[in-house]
Amino acid sequence: MHELSIADSIIKTATAEATKRRATEISAVGLRIGQLTDIVEDSLRFGLEVLSKGTMMEKAEIEIESIPPIGYCETCARNIEIRKFFFVCPECNGRQIKLISGNELDIAYIELETDDKVSTEEKQNTTDSTDA
Ligand SMILES: [Zn+2]
Repeated sequence: MHELSIADSIIKTATAEATKRRATEISAVGLRIGQLTDIVEDSLRFGLEVLSKGTMMEKAEIEIESIPPIGYCETCARNIEIRKFFFVCPECNGRQIKLISGNELDIAYIELETDDKVSTEEKQNTTDSTDA
């Protein structure tokens, strides 16, 4: 089940980002998944739920946007919708199609909870306090 390893890498990316920004918790994660990937959304959600236990992402809302496959027809010089893995232009029946979207797996956004007092007061890394 490769959704588990995908879920694992999403959690690692999101928590690394949250740590970098000194967040206390991740409240939401938005994902963009191309319809040409073989990722099963339910399996991915399950993987995220299981693997995020005990991490900052444990309570995060997961929003998944499904991206339809779009190709570019070189004959018509325009974007076309690719249906059912059938890489033929519906306008000219051409097969010179370049895939533009449909294969992605991106983190669209990460919403973080931060403890403002801690993050702004604790880390004032300015060098204007010369106590030496
Ligand atoms: Zn065409």
